[in-house]
Parts: sequence; C-alpha cells; structure tokens
Amino acid sequence: MTQSSFQPPRRILMGPGPSDVSPRVLEALGRPTIGHLDPEFIRLMDEIRDCLRQTFRTDNALTLPISAPGSAGQEACVVNLLEPGDTAVVCINGVFGERMTQMAERAGATVVPVRQTWGEPVDPEALAETLAAHPETKLVGFVHAETSTGVLSDARALAAVAREHDCLVLADTVTSLGGCPVEVDEWGLDAVYSGTQKCLSCPPGLSPVTFSDRAHQAMQARKTPPQSWFLDIGLLTGYWTGGAQRAYHHTAPVNALYGLHESLVILLEEGLEAAWARHARLHQALVAGFEAMGLEMAVAAGHRTPQLNAVRVPEGVDEAAIRKHLLDEHNLEIGAGLGPMAGKIWRVGLMGASATETNVALCLEHIEQALHQAGAKIETGRAVEAATSV
Ligand code: PLP
Repeated sequence: MTQSSFQPPRRILMGPGPSDVSPRVLEALGRPTIGHLDPEFIRLMDEIRDCLRQTFRTDNALTLPISAPGSAGQEACVVNLLEPGDTAVVCINGVFGERMTQMAERAGATVVPVRQTWGEPVDPEALAETLAAHPETKLVGFVHAETSTGVLSDARALAAVAREHDCLVLADTVTSLGGCPVEVDEWGLDAVYSGTQKCLSCPPGLSPVTFSDRAHQAMQARKTPPQSWFLDIGLLTGYWTGGAQRAYHHTAPVNALYGLHESLVILLEEGLEAAWARHARLHQALVAGFEAMGLEMAVAAGHRTPQLNAVRVPEGVDEAAIRKHLLDEHNLEIGAGLGPMAGKIWRVGLMGASATETNVALCLEHIEQALHQAGAKIETGRAVEAATSV
C-alpha cells in the first residue's frame, strides 16, 4: 500500500490543550534545521532561557525547557528534589496533584497528601495543619491551575505557608503560565514547571522549568543521584549553560525550540499583563454566555481559572454526542470531564491563541444550537449578546 502525506483537519482547539498554534509559530517550526551545537543555535538557546525568565517572572539562573511534554517537567522537578528518606506534602484537588503524588512516591519519598474535593481550590489552612503535624517535610507540591476541574488555587498563599515551615515549594503552572499571573520570584516558588501546549500556544512536546537557588542547593545536597539520567538537572545544566564549553547531553529538538522561541516572542510582544487581561475578559464573556443560556458553571466564582472553563452538562444530555457533533460539524474541539466529573462537565479552554472574541462567540453559538437540537431545556438567542456585552 502506498502511504500518502497526512493532512490534519483544521480544528478550533477549545479543549484542555493543546490550544491553537499561531501561524507565526507554525512558520517558525518549518525553518531550516541547524546543528544543535551550531553557534547560532546556542544563541537561540540563550534567548529562549531569557524569554522564559521573563515569562516566569524570575531571575533564576536555572531556567530551561525540558525536551518532552509537561509531565516530563513535572517529573524533572520531583526526581531532582526528592530521594528516598524525604517527606513531601502534595496538595491534591484533581488529576495532576494525583500524578505528582505518584511521581514523588516513585522517587522514594514518603508522601503526605492534602486532599481537597475536586472542583475546589487547595485550602492553605489545611496545608498549614498538615505541615504542623509533619515537621520533617522537605517539599510542598501543588497544582496552580487544575486543568481537570478548572480551579485556580492561591499559589502565593500556599507558597507562603510552605515557606513558613521551611519547605521547598513545587508548583505546576502547565495551564496557568501565560494565561494568568505567575510570579515565581515574588511568590517564592522554588521549582516550577509548565508546558508549551496551553497558554504558550505552541505544539505539545516541551516543558519549561525553573529552579531557585534554594532548590539548586537542595539538589547539590542530595545523597543519591536522581533516578532519571535524562531528567538530571545537573547534567542538563551542562548542556543549556556554559557557553562554548556546553557539554553534549541529548540532541535538542531544534525545530520545536524555534517554535517555542517564536511563541514566547509573541507573548512578550503582547505583554504578560495584556495577555492575562485578555484571558480574564474572554473568560467573563464566556461565562456570561453560558449563564444566559441557563447553564451552570461547575466551579464557584472567585476560584475559576480563566483558561479552562468547566460548565455543567444539562440534565439528560449525552455530553459525548454534543462534543462529537461540535467536532464533526464545526471542527470545534471542547473537552470532557475527567474522574468523578466524567459525563458531568465540559471543559472549554480559552488558552493562548484560542482565546479570541471570535472563538467565544462561535463556541457559544454552536453549543447552544447543538443543545437546542438535542432537546435540552435552555434559553436560546441570548448567549452571544450576553458575552458581547461583557
Ligand atoms: N499538569 C497539568 C496541570 C496539566 O494540565 C497537564 C496536561 O494537561 C500536565 C501537567 C501534563 O502535561 P503533558 O500532557 O504535556 O505531559
């Protein structure tokens, strides 16, 4: 059988990620590949690290993209900071806190969970109580924006509690970075990872990470080497820093890094504050539209993350059929609920290049039409106007 080139359909990506990739990033990905030790590529690596520092709002020397998706950044933080004999407190209010726990346990640490009902933010008081009961804790981990539920936890407050107890602070900013404030230095975050496929609007496959001096010292004080060779930050530092003396570690994904660089340039051209404001404004518009339709948001106002809008599926509606209709008829992707929320919510992403007024209107219009056709009891004809008025 002769194989032919793969031609993906053109979708509008309004799920939990990946988000739409801007034409500028797609064009950058297609530029000529050069050697990963070429002086021009090394210049690009330095620029990427500089742009990442600006995006994370940090002066951390140890800032770089891991050559693999967000889960690899997550694992890099965990395996470099934890080893057998350590205790970690992990806050769990969704899928990604659970995953952090599993990674920490595999790294040999004893994990004490702080569990919160899915759909609610992590409670700093509960964290404080747990830390008071476990003074041996080395590290506190939490997810800033829980993509599985659409909840934004108060990263600043959680970090302050962790620091009062002299713990390292590990924060997941996969969904938050670029879409709402992330202040690594101001909030005192020690190890932070993100992903390229959410509000950075780059294809999936890279995971920016940053480590404070405190985290670096903790890595240097380890008794055992990190269990992962590929994710060993000590070895990666030799590759990403050191000027002409850079040591070969792995072959960097050259073109993917062109894409990341372009996406960071786009974000910094817009300005971080402007990007955060755009996400917040469009989130308000989408919520106003859903509520005008009579739909209910799954997360209480004040705890919603603007990039990921969890909306309840109306009674009696086959949620999967609606998503299939949106994809088949309108090339529009929205996400399903996960875990205890499966079948009960849709997750509508407004991330990076997907966060536009046109997409908000389009999404409301198509969901309203699909629900109406499915016989759901909703208000029709008011959603787009309600969104526009915001
Ligand atoms: N953390 C959060 C909050 C996420 O939303 C995701 C992915 O959706 C990850 C971690 C893992 O990232 P990846 O799927 O790129 O490995």
